[in-house]
Order: sequence, then C-alpha cells, then structure tokens
Amino acid sequence: MPTTNAPDWERLQKALSVEAERGFPNLMGREYQFHEFLKLSFSQPPQELPEDDRRRWQELGDRFASYGEFTPSQRQHLVAESRRFLLQMQRVFEKVRSQQQETRPTRVKTPPTAPIETVAQQTTARYTHPDSLHLTQPLTEVKAIGRRNGDRLARLGLYRVSELLYYFPRDRIDYARQVSIGDLEPGETVTVIGDVKSCRFFSSSKNKKLTIFQLVLKDPTGQVKITRFYAGHRYTSSRWQYAQRAQYPRGATVAASGLVKKNKYGVTLDNPDLEVLSHSEGRIESITVGRVLPVYPLTEGVTADMMRRAVLAVLPAARQVLEPLPVKLRQKYDLVDLPTAIEQIHFPKDSESLDRARRRLVFDEFFYLQLGLLRRRHELKQSGEIASRPASAALSGQGQLVDRFYSILPFQLTGAQQRVVREILGDLSKTTPMNRLVQGDVGAGKTVVAVVAILAAIQSGYQAALMAPTEVLAEQHYQKLVGWLNLLQIPVELLTGSTKTSKRREIHTQLQTGELPVLVGTHALIQDPVKFHQLGLVVIDEQHRFGVHQRAKLQQKGANGICHVLSMTATPIPRTLALTLHGDLDVSQIDELPPGRKPIQTTVLSGKQRQEAYDLIRREVAGGRQCYTVLPLIEESEKLDIKSAVEEYERLQQVFPHYEIGLLHGRMTSAQKENAIEQFRTNQTQILVSTTVVEVGVDVPNATVMLIENAERFGLSQLHQLRGRVGRGGDRSFCILMTHAKASADAKQRLEVMAQSQDGFFIAEMDMQLRGPGEVLGTRQSGLPDFALASLVDDREVLILARNAAERVIVKDPTVDRYPRMKRELEKRFAQLLGGSILT
Ligand code: ADP
Ligand code: MG
Repeated sequence: MPTTNAPDWERLQKALSVEAERGFPNLMGREYQFHEFLKLSFSQPPQELPEDDRRRWQELGDRFASYGEFTPSQRQHLVAESRRFLLQMQRVFEKVRSQQQETRPTRVKTPPTAPIETVAQQTTARYTHPDSLHLTQPLTEVKAIGRRNGDRLARLGLYRVSELLYYFPRDRIDYARQVSIGDLEPGETVTVIGDVKSCRFFSSSKNKKLTIFQLVLKDPTGQVKITRFYAGHRYTSSRWQYAQRAQYPRGATVAASGLVKKNKYGVTLDNPDLEVLSHSEGRIESITVGRVLPVYPLTEGVTADMMRRAVLAVLPAARQVLEPLPVKLRQKYDLVDLPTAIEQIHFPKDSESLDRARRRLVFDEFFYLQLGLLRRRHELKQSGEIASRPASAALSGQGQLVDRFYSILPFQLTGAQQRVVREILGDLSKTTPMNRLVQGDVGAGKTVVAVVAILAAIQSGYQAALMAPTEVLAEQHYQKLVGWLNLLQIPVELLTGSTKTSKRREIHTQLQTGELPVLVGTHALIQDPVKFHQLGLVVIDEQHRFGVHQRAKLQQKGANGICHVLSMTATPIPRTLALTLHGDLDVSQIDELPPGRKPIQTTVLSGKQRQEAYDLIRREVAGGRQCYTVLPLIEESEKLDIKSAVEEYERLQQVFPHYEIGLLHGRMTSAQKENAIEQFRTNQTQILVSTTVVEVGVDVPNATVMLIENAERFGLSQLHQLRGRVGRGGDRSFCILMTHAKASADAKQRLEVMAQSQDGFFIAEMDMQLRGPGEVLGTRQSGLPDFALASLVDDREVLILARNAAERVIVKDPTVDRYPRMKRELEKRFAQLLGGSILT
C-alpha cells in the first residue's frame, strides 16, 4: 500500500547510522530488532516515488528479512546501500512534493497563534494575579514588571498602570501574514513555518567576537537561511551554543517572523523572532511570532520586547477602566467600549478590532477637546448674564453712523459681507459677549465689515479698539480706518511700541475721558496701562497670532471687565483645523471676493525660463507698475537669509539697471523697514526684494507682479498669502513661481495647485493634506493640541462626529454635571490637550 505521509527519513537514517557505528550487531530497539524495523519501514514505499524506485524500495526491504544470516561485510554493504538509496529517494520525494505544491495557490493565512489574552494571562499569572492589579498601582509594584523595569519605564514618564495602558503604539509590525518559503519577497515582514534542516554556529571571519547562528528552515516550496548575530565573548562558549542548538533539533517545526532581506547568498531573515512549535500543527504561543506587533516609542534601557511584555502584564487592568461615555452616545456614534478599545489598540484580535479601537480612542481625543472648547464658549457667554448688570454692552447696528457709512461707501457689500455683518450685529445686540471669528481671503473685504461693527459700538456710546500683531499691519489698519472714519468725523489714533511718549500720554488721557472713540494698535494696547472710558468692542486681526490670554486681557478692558470680541483672519484654514483651534468661537466666512477682481495669473517656471519672468517684469514696470521678488527663508540661519536677499538685490540691479530696487528683510530696524515700504508704496522703488516679511500685510495696489524664488520651499498656504500681495488694484496681476533646478517633480506638481486655484480654503486644505496641520499654521505657531492618536488630516470624519456629540452634550448639560465621570475625564484631558498649545 502506498502511503500518503512522508517517510520518517530522519528516523530511518538514524537507525542505519547507529547500526553502523556499533559494528552491525543487528541492534535490539525498544520494539523491534534492527532488521525487523527496516523490513517494516521499507514495506510501504511512498506513492510520490516513480514506479521503478518504489520497486527498488520494496526489494531493499525484502533483503533485510535475511539480515540476521548475513556476514558482517554483507551487513555493512546493505546498510551503506540503504543509506545512499534513502538520501536519493528523499530528494526525489521532495522534488515531487514541491512540484505538487507549486500548482497550488500560495499559502497566505494567519499562522495558528494562540489568543494573546491566553498568552498574556499565562505570563502575568506567573507573577501576578490579575485581581491584584489596579489602575493607580505604581509600575514598579507590578510583579510581572518588577522594580528595575518599572524604574526604566519611568524614563518615559510612565509611573502607573493606567499610564502604561494609555501609552499607545505609534506603529505596528505585521507578522500575521504567513507565506511559503518559496514566495518570500525582500522588504516584506512575514512569518514562515518550516522544519529545521540544519542549525549551526560559527564565528565571523572578520570579527572573532561576533558569533553567527545559522538556521536553515525548509518547507515543501524551498528553504531559507536564518541568521542571528551575537556580539560578545560569552556567545563563543560551546556550552552556550550547544544549549541553543538543542532547541532546534533537525525536523523540529519552527515559526520565524521577520523582515525578508536579500543578500548575495539569497533570501534571508535577519534576526527574526523564532518559536519552536510543539509539533507541526502546533499553536504559536510567543507574543511576537506570527502576530501584528505594537511598536512603542522607546528610550534607553527600554527594549521593544520589554515594553510589549510590560503592556501585556498590565493589560488585564484595562477591564477596570470605567466608561465615561453614556451608552446612548456610544450607540449613536457606534463606539466600542473603552476597556475593549484600550485592549485592542495594543494587541488587536484582527484589523477590524484595531480599526474600531483606534476610532474610539481618536473620538475621545477630539470629543474632550470639543467639549472643553464648547464649555468655554458657554462660560464666556454666561459671564454676561450672571453679572448683576449687563456685562457686555448691547450695541446696535441701527443708527446714524452705520447708515451714513453705507451711504458714503462707493460700493455695495457682497452677499458674503452682508451675511457676516448680519451675524455680527446679531451678536452685538445681545448682552452676552460676542466671540466671533471672521475668516476671509486677503482682499475679501474684512476691514469694511469690521468698520461696521466699530461704528455700531460708537453709535451706541461705546469705544472700540483694534489690535494687530505687527506694527506694519497696525499702521495699515490705521490708514484704512482713518480713510473711512474721517469722512464721518470720527477721530482714530494709533498706539504701537514706537509711539512717542508725549503722544502716548495724550492718547491715554483721551481714552479715559472718552474723547477718543477708536484706537488701533499692537500689543501696546494690552501692555500699556491703557484705560478706556467705556470699551464696548475689541477687534483682533490675525487673531491666531495672539494667545487666548492676550485676547482675554484686551477683552477685560471692556466696560464691566468684559466686551464683545471680533476676531479676523486672512489665513483660511481647513474646517478640521478651525474646529480644533477655534472650537470656542463662532465662525463666519467671507467666502466671496468683491466683484471685478481679476484672477491673478499664476505660472510655474523653472530656472531656464527665468528670462520670461524678467520680460514680464520689464513690461509691467514700463507700464508704470511694480514688482515684488520674494526669497525663501533659509532655515539654518538668518544670516544666510539676509545674505541671499542682499545678493539678489545686487544681482537684480545688474539685470534692471534702469529701475530703482528696494530691499526689505527681518534684520532691518523698523524705521528702515518702514522706509523701504514707504519708498515702494510711493513708487520710488519699482522692484522690492524681500524675505518673507512682506507676507505680513504690505499693501501696495500698484504692484502687479509677485515673483517667488525657490517656490518649492514654501507651503501652499504661504504662497497664497504672498500672492495676495498683488491683485489689490484694478489691474491684471501676475504671480510667478520660480522653481529651483533641483526641485522634485512632486514639488512642481504641488505648485500647480497654485496655478489652478485662487480659493484660499481649497489651497489650505490641499496644503494640510500634503504637509500636515502644523506646517499649514506656520512654524511660529505650531501650538496645536497634542493628540496621541488623532490626525486632523486622516480623522476628519471622526472629528466632525465628536464635535457633533460634544454640541449635543453641551446643549443639554452646559456644565457637564449630569455625567460626573465624563466631567472628570474632561477636566483631566482638556488641561492635558491644551498643555503648551496656543489655546491656553
Ligand atoms: P481684507 O481686509 O479682507 O484683506 P479689505 O477690507 O481691506 O480686505 O478690502 C480690500 C479692498 O477691497 C479694499 O480696497 C476695499 O475697499 C475693497 N472692497 C471691500 N469690499 C468691497 C466690495 N463689496 N466691493 C468692492 N470693493 C470692496
Ligand atoms: Mg485686511
């Protein structure tokens, strides 16, 4: 009868070699005498062998029947012939088997891993009974971790069980995919299961202290060499090596997980995790082999393996975490319970459980932030009503000043402007303080809208203040306001760091008496001991450049210590960012440009096409227009920055000998800067070479060309801001994005977004997807909340859901008193999230 199982080659060979070693005595084994065992084994030839071989196989078996009567030399011949024959047959057999395998699809399956909980329980139970674990327990007191490892974990700021549970993996290694050895592809992380073919140690020829362990595993599709490296003298010990080898006897089934590499000897697994299975169908019990492994941020003394074991040791305590979210809310937003989420984020059962765990934890991060921001908004509004008298003045949009302003305006407000004005006036008419942010592209007409709000304050008998982040911007606002307000005979003053002391005193007095209704300024507005007679409205421009504290400080100068706040920003930011940064504000968008604005023709040029750019500049300047040239910030040094600006300035003097060229950079004194801007504004210079300082509100309507060098180094949002410097007059304007010869194709493609769109919100969204939220906001204010898992780019949907959930809670229960656990979590998380962020 042919057999379906492979013959036990090892056992047969072993029997033959022992018989030879002992001098052919026809040894007595446990059950059979040598010749009986061989006769029996050879009686059933494997069906994989060709017919001829099968016959030889049987004949050989028959010859062993008379082994007992053979002379020693006859015995020796038969044994030797059998050993050779067996080796030969083994090769034939394996070849046939592997051909059969090839016609089958690749085995890709999850290796038979034991459930991690079982493994974890075994590990933990050895030291600690799960019941003796508790969330506030110091890690040093968790027996399975121990004092020494506990101390090491403290280096990562992990002191207690709960902190370790909330120390989420930053990545994963996927060893769950099992492949056949014949299908190994370099670069993949995989698990292979094979039988030990050989196992040896040798020392490196280059470095005698380096011991190399080499294991060859085979499966029916091929074999793979696995190497592990041991540095140090103690690994050269033959006793140690012997003990190691004993773990990998020939024929043992081993699961190996690692990264497949290819070297000159073929495909290998370098330093993989290995587990010897109890038998060929055995389950994998190790916490690494065959699994999706969490990858944690580590530090010196804390290895990946130690970290995984520590997390596994405390994982049972996840069950003790109390769920702060009501069941209904969890059901509505389809969220798994918190203990499960914590367990599964570390050692997920499968990718679906991982997704669900992550979704829940991301939701939490967004939810508590939104809940905190909304509660803050509610408190701000409340503060007006709780006070015995109306804290913020009710300001009316109905009145002479606003009417007269509309009548002298040479244009109609756009639909978007009208809508935003309505929203603002609606807020102002209430005694609860307004906290509204107006977002709108450069030139969308925010200033006009702000003027309406300021006039509403004045006609209601109150004062107004406008604060801008830089002197240049404050000066510009002042100029604009003077223009409008003079027509209405309303005085305005400007207060900045460079305001002369005498002027400063005069302003202080006029503010206090109420003679001066409007003040424009920089931080000086909050730094100076400025006292208002009756401040009703504060307008803050580019509000993201101020912290919450600074804004609050100005607001406190209001009558009764509070007033309405109107914030403005020309930095369009994506909705997810807006919710994260301004979740406590009401947001209005001016998403429509005044009519007749011509799109700025935007072109991406490479260095070779520079001449085209210069021709355009010549044409425009000859027609009486002006041009900006902007150089990128050189990150490494401000000195280099200025050097490149100065060099470009000198170079352009050669290129355009007949034009006057100006220079503007960050190291100039504010007087020098003002002078440079003034010369450009009055067209005494036709070309202004500048570093990015120009981004911050230089307003010269006669400028029609914006040439940006090394444009690939800028973010899209920043390019959009720069481009907004032109196209401010009625003339057709141009933006040229020069790319460096070495700019990547990707970078050039990114710039094409600029050529295609003028919509600041769209560009900001693209920018965020390409570079991440921190970059969109600019390095100066990267103070986004510190999320452990959540991404503003990838988890947009969850953020919107979390916002929605938080709104529902606040509407019903603005102080969150009905859900004590949720409230406790909120206090803890909100403070944490805001730590170091600009929201504080
Ligand atoms: P922003 O502050 O949003 O950059 P401004 O308020 O300074 O924009 O307006 C830019 C220019 O557009 C100004 O010259 C302003 O007078 C003009 N402007 C504003 N609103 C309109 C409108 N509805 N129609 C025509 N021109 C407008
Ligand atoms: Mg403006």
